[in-house]
Amino acid sequence: MTQSTQSQQTPGADHDTDVVIVGGGMVGGVLARALALDGWRVEVVEQRAPQSSSSFDRRLTAVADAGWQYMDTLGLIDQPLAAAAQGIREVRVFDRGHFGLTRITARSAGVEALGYVMPNRELGERLETLLQHPPAGQAAVRYHRPARYLSHETDDAGVSVQIASDGQGGAQPTWLRARLMVAADGAESPVREQAGLSVHRREYDQVATVATAMPARPHRGVAFECFTTGGPLAVLPATGGRVSLVWVARGDEAERIARLDDTGVAQAVDTAFGHRLGGFSAISPRAQYPLSLVTASEAVADRLVVLGNAAHALHPVAGQGFNLCLRDIRDLTRVLRADRGARIDPGAPERLARYQSLRQADYRRTIGLTDGLVRGFSLDLPLLGHLRGATLSLFDGVAPLKNRLVRATRGIA
Ligand SMILES: Cc1cc2nc3c(=O)[nH]c(=O)nc-3n(C[C@H](O)[C@H](O)[C@H](O)COP(=O)(O)OP(=O)(O)OC[C@H]3O[C@@H](n4cnc5c(N)ncnc54)[C@H](O)[C@@H]3O)c2cc1C
Repeated sequence: MTQSTQSQQTPGADHDTDVVIVGGGMVGGVLARALALDGWRVEVVEQRAPQSSSSFDRRLTAVADAGWQYMDTLGLIDQPLAAAAQGIREVRVFDRGHFGLTRITARSAGVEALGYVMPNRELGERLETLLQHPPAGQAAVRYHRPARYLSHETDDAGVSVQIASDGQGGAQPTWLRARLMVAADGAESPVREQAGLSVHRREYDQVATVATAMPARPHRGVAFECFTTGGPLAVLPATGGRVSLVWVARGDEAERIARLDDTGVAQAVDTAFGHRLGGFSAISPRAQYPLSLVTASEAVADRLVVLGNAAHALHPVAGQGFNLCLRDIRDLTRVLRADRGARIDPGAPERLARYQSLRQADYRRTIGLTDGLVRGFSLDLPLLGHLRGATLSLFDGVAPLKNRLVRATRGIA
């Protein structure tokens, strides 16, 4: 599928390719790998220098079983990444201070692990190697980095993308020519904005504080999601006996947390968590992320697919964001792969429309689940606490409800 662009070239266009991806973070990187494996010529424009994308910071990401298997089919799970990832054997969801607990085990779901908690930085390193130095017989991806997307123009045959290759916009702009452009440039997506797509934005007035810690008692592969009146607290199992903490609090409370020293954080988390793992020590430096829900009005436009945080930046409460992105990548590559063998145009409008319609139900369910959890568990009303506890017990006791929860946990749309 390496047909050449038959249209007139944009004056000054350096060269042409099949797909230009703007944004080389988690989503742009994984998509580049998936497309390159399918034989597409791919170029990635990333404004940051190697290994410094905000995607590949110190965070750990919980990837559901289905997403992990998909990443494996792309050849991403090599030995170092597998060794750095902790399997989730059980998920426990509870409402702090009220009865009610939902428990899902890998054994009852018939799998080895419900998912894996993976350090983002290791994924970045894996992508770095694989995209530029793939095994023999597989095509490499061309990087423009540091290079910043400036603008794009579309016509019937393709898209011309203007970039500044010093990352600052100061150098002479360069034009790239492709059949399809993908915006994987994050929640504030300059590409989405230039394409004129509107966004729906809901500010949660919540901030996630992220750190790792050593629990006093072994985590035994259990992932805890604890709903407190301030916001959800996730305690995820990590390798080396550590846990990853994702502690969501209202803005003013998060400011107070940011001022705490290590001992203060350890005590505050232990109290919020109800002393379940016997306390925490060795707290890492903290990072904070203001939270909002950002969804693009459309996932596609002329010669453009909007993907990852650019399409839907979600609250991290149920660890659904990157998992949803992996399903986007799987479906997009399937749609582009259809009719393989024919001289197909990856940016053809009917192909993009098919992708958009394929994704709608999953978007509705996943965004609805995440937003509903945030809002339902953030309200601090006395009766509501008992109702939430009862709901969690109900999930645990009613097989069809529980099965749906298990499927969502395992990343099966
Ligand atoms: C605290 C927290 C915890 C989370 N935990 C989980 C979890 O456990 N499980 C899960 O499934 N999801 C989780 N998520 C969601 C997950 O992190 C996102 O889905 C994922 O980061 C989306 O990646 P992305 O590549 O789309 O966007 P980004 O990570 O924002 O990357 C965008 C990239 O585009 C580049 N870029 C931007 N503008 C330009 C430009 N003009 N030119 C060139 N390049 C540009 C940036 O430099 C960056 O590299 C979590 C999110 C948060 C905030």
